[in-house]
Amino acid sequence: MACASWLHLHSSSLTRVILPILHHPTAPSTAFLHRLNRFSSPARLTFAVNQTNPLLTPVHAQAKRGFSSKDNKMASPEDLRFEPPLKIVVYPDPILRKRNKRIDTFDENLKKLVDEMFDVMYKTDGIGLSAPQVGINVQLMVFNPVGERGEGQEIVLINPRVTKYSKKAVLFNEGCLSFPRIYADVERPESVKIDAQDINGARFTVDLSELPARVFQHEFDHLQGILFFDRMSDEVLDSIRGQLEALEKKYEDKTGHPSPEKVETRKRKKAGVGFGKS
Ligand SMILES: [Zn+2]
Repeated sequence: MACASWLHLHSSSLTRVILPILHHPTAPSTAFLHRLNRFSSPARLTFAVNQTNPLLTPVHAQAKRGFSSKDNKMASPEDLRFEPPLKIVVYPDPILRKRNKRIDTFDENLKKLVDEMFDVMYKTDGIGLSAPQVGINVQLMVFNPVGERGEGQEIVLINPRVTKYSKKAVLFNEGCLSFPRIYADVERPESVKIDAQDINGARFTVDLSELPARVFQHEFDHLQGILFFDRMSDEVLDSIRGQLEALEKKYEDKTGHPSPEKVETRKRKKAGVGFGKS
């Protein structure tokens, strides 16, 4: 069906391809990370898959809040059990900060989970979604930079690792499905080289730039327990502090428990997140 990933369909036969992002004829509406208008010209997604030389030395994001993927345990069938329809986990739910296990079973259940994730991503106007955001703490993300079913490319990345970050960093106005209606600027490297597995477990490397690189890095952070406001400057964080506190209050009212984290305790303090060097 439409949710089959491009990588699933093609990575075994192609070693290098360049694919255009298919642009929506009208202005993108409310997609996650939907500030496509920041790009002045139609972006082209360069998607270079190289299965013949996948053994690049992994360099992980060196985020203090995050986890090293080498410490991650393998997910059990229980960890991957889910009940559709999936629901988006909203900040400050502690699920978003939990460790995400690596996947070593590439079965029908995993394919169903991927399909369900694309489903909820499109329904919520997203263009990227990580498994912890639907309550499944495993190393899996899906994205489609166009954010429309049947358009663009559906990409599934399992157990991803970053092997190279560009030196050049760029600002981009990001949103996150786990932070409804909150948008703010985040600085990230412009391009990344990554190593991951596809839906069948085949390992590949891929170079991403522009919007796909942005979406990937945002979702990759989720897999390390890092949230987008962890990477915001003090000034930017201040601009959304009230909205974050409102989400914390909502969580407290709903659960009857204190919020597991409070943005107010991070006043004028760097979150201590960074990127690995190539
Ligand atoms: Zn997010």
